[in-house]
Formats: sequence, C-alpha cells, structure tokens
Amino acid sequence: MGFPVFVPRPFLQRMRFGDPTDPLLRQVLPVPDESEDVEGFSKDPVHDQVYERFPGVIQKYPGRALLVVNGACAIHCRYCFRRHYPYHDVPHSPASWRGALESLADDRSLTEIILSGGDPLTLVDSSLRQLVEQIANISHVRRIRIHTRLPVVIPSRVTNELIETLQIHPTSIVVVHINHPHEIDDAVVAALSRLVDAGVTLLNQAVLMRGVNDSADVLAELCLRLVDLRVSPYYLNQLDRVAGAAHFEVPIEEGKHIMQMLSSRLPGYALPRYVQDVPGQDAKQAIC
Ligand SMILES: *Cc1c(COP(=O)(O)O)cnc(C)c1O
Ligand code: SF4
Repeated sequence: MGFPVFVPRPFLQRMRFGDPTDPLLRQVLPVPDESEDVEGFSKDPVHDQVYERFPGVIQKYPGRALLVVNGACAIHCRYCFRRHYPYHDVPHSPASWRGALESLADDRSLTEIILSGGDPLTLVDSSLRQLVEQIANISHVRRIRIHTRLPVVIPSRVTNELIETLQIHPTSIVVVHINHPHEIDDAVVAALSRLVDAGVTLLNQAVLMRGVNDSADVLAELCLRLVDLRVSPYYLNQLDRVAGAAHFEVPIEEGKHIMQMLSSRLPGYALPRYVQDVPGQDAKQAIC
C-alpha cells in the first residue's frame, strides 16, 4: 500500500537467520495485521500537516522548526509515523528549498533548524553541504540538528565529506534511531565514534514497540551500550498511532512499568525520557 519493503543489506545482516521473531526483522516485515483498520489509528497521527507553515516546514514548538528535506529513507520501518506523509508535495532539491529557507531566515525567533524527512542523509553529500551552508548563514540559527537512521542502517554513509559538512556549523546535533542493541555492530560502532570524534553531539531516540524492545532488560542493555559509545539516550517514544502500526503498540501503563524498572537499574544519564507526541502541546509530553 505505497510503502514497500525496503531494507539495506548491512541491517539485514544483523538479523538472526531463521528466527521469525527477530527484533530487527519485525521492524521491517509487513504482516497481515497492517491492513487491519484499528480505531484511533490514522494517517497523520501527529497532525504534521496542520503545523506546516510553509511547504516542507513544520513548526510545532517554539524556537525550533523542522525542514522535511526529502521523502527518501534508507529503510522502511513499518511503524513509521510518516509512512503516509505526502512527500511528493515537499521541496526536494537545493533550488526548491529556497522559499523554505527564506521563511526560516525571516523568523528571528528560531534558534534551531531540524533536518528531517524521509532521511536527510539520503541526500548526496554536495546537496546536503549546500543546505547546511545556507542554514549556517542564517545568523540567528545557533544549532543544526539532523534526524537520521543512516549511520545505523548503512554505516558507510558516514563519509569524510559528511563529517566536513557537519563541521560547517559549530553546533551540530545528530539524533540517530536505534531500537534494539542488535542493531549495533562493529561498523556502527565505528561510524558513531567518527561522528563523536568530529565534535558532533550524538543523541538516540527509540520507539517502544511490542516484540522489539518492550522489556527492561533489552532497553537497559541498549541504553548502557549507547552511553559506552558516547551517545545519549534522549527519548523513548510512545508509538504514534499511525494506521498500519497498531500491532506494535505497548499500552502506556506497561511502558511506565518498564520505565520504573529501568530507572532503578540505570544511572540518570543513561535513562531516556519516555515521551509522547500529543498534537496541540508546545513540547513532546513527558509520560513519566
Ligand atoms: C519532535 C519534534 C521536534 C523536536 O522536539 P524536541 O523535543 O526538541 O526533540 C521538533 N519539531 C517537530 C515538528 C517535532 O515533531
Ligand atoms: S522516517 Fe525514520 S522511522 Fe520513518 S521509515 Fe524513514 S528511517 Fe524509518
């Protein structure tokens, strides 16, 4: 239904062959449950389209705006809240970003620009560099943040040129997306450490999902592994209720219980914030 299976080889190779319950396989394998219509699950659960202030620019929260730079990802995650996003309507090339960038440059209340998508790192290095240079030229933008799964799913994407691009702005933050410790192999370790060594602030967000990471043991292992790799566990997201993803949902009460167990086992700096995207709020809502 417009969201075909798509998995890059390096991610595929980390799965346990012959195990239909593998937590990495589960993230990318369509199952019959997807086509069920479940009440409360919709195509735009976080109301992105309501908060679009310019084509491709979403601003929900004060001080930071999100630029949807393209619609391509390096992997198709079945639980993705943007799996139904109308990507064909957003700007896709350096020339077509001009209007969006002008709208960001005109708004002095913005101190942070977030590049999202799709996955911004599916852009070729020269386009990404152009975009980052243009943003770095906006004097009131003090931080550039990139949300991406690429350093994890295809670690060789962390090229020298990417590192140089991230160093154009003095404060670059990269938020990666790792849900399960099995996603981290030697190549991922190397890619993440190159980013940190280059001065990039690295954060991780995970989505709490049934059959993937709905266990304090798995999450504790993930968070400690991240800290050891100098990545801060930032958010544990409650699943956005997007149509087709109901089979991943973990009830909030169960999520709170898992968080309670986690907080008794981890140092404070290893504990992600358990949050939910509630449309109409001026921040991600803390659950506990
Ligand atoms: C989640 C989100 C952000 C980032 O929120 P932080 O709490 O700063 O991580 C920004 N813009 C939009 C539209 C978002 O959905
Ligand atoms: S936007 Fe992120 S979560 Fe959604 S399919 Fe792309 S990589 Fe996966």
